[in-house]
Amino acid sequence: MGWFKRRRESEYVDIVYATRQAADDARRRAEAAGLTFRYIEKREGRRYITYTGTDPEKAKAFLRKEPIADDTTYIVVETEDGVWGTDSSSLYLERLRAWQLDTDAVDCEGSIESLIDGFHNYLLAMRGTVDNFLAEIRCGRCRHAWIDGIRYSDVTRVRCPECRALNRVDSTSLVEVIDYR
Ligand SMILES: [Zn+2]
Repeated sequence: MGWFKRRRESEYVDIVYATRQAADDARRRAEAAGLTFRYIEKREGRRYITYTGTDPEKAKAFLRKEPIADDTTYIVVETEDGVWGTDSSSLYLERLRAWQLDTDAVDCEGSIESLIDGFHNYLLAMRGTVDNFLAEIRCGRCRHAWIDGIRYSDVTRVRCPECRALNRVDSTSLVEVIDYR
């Protein structure tokens, strides 16, 4: 792991935020979302500001609102249930969680309400660059809607954060609507 540089928190302001005020504001928003700052690392010309969080839903809400200054900056939240991040164009789930691939054992059928942050993730998933894209999912049991990562043109298991039901989500019908229109 010697090929990238890990930065200390003292360098936080210089690297990422123009002013101390902006850095303090960002820190406050992170704390309100229950996140803990870990480190900043530079990798292949990109910088990753990394936090840990206990609640993926709070992490996603935080990331969706967080301003990104340029297209080489990423904010990442490591949770026990997936690594979530954002860049200048969209929220993302770094990779699907292993339990998401077991689509036989489910409680109900979830539906796809919309794509999140446009087509960016969807196109990357279609090309196979990433293993998922983000969609707003509606729980088949309690009707709660939330954002989750699902596979391109395939079935995926997702867990409703509200009632904990395991939903089976099928994105194959999306393909007909989006890819061939
Ligand atoms: Zn539910």
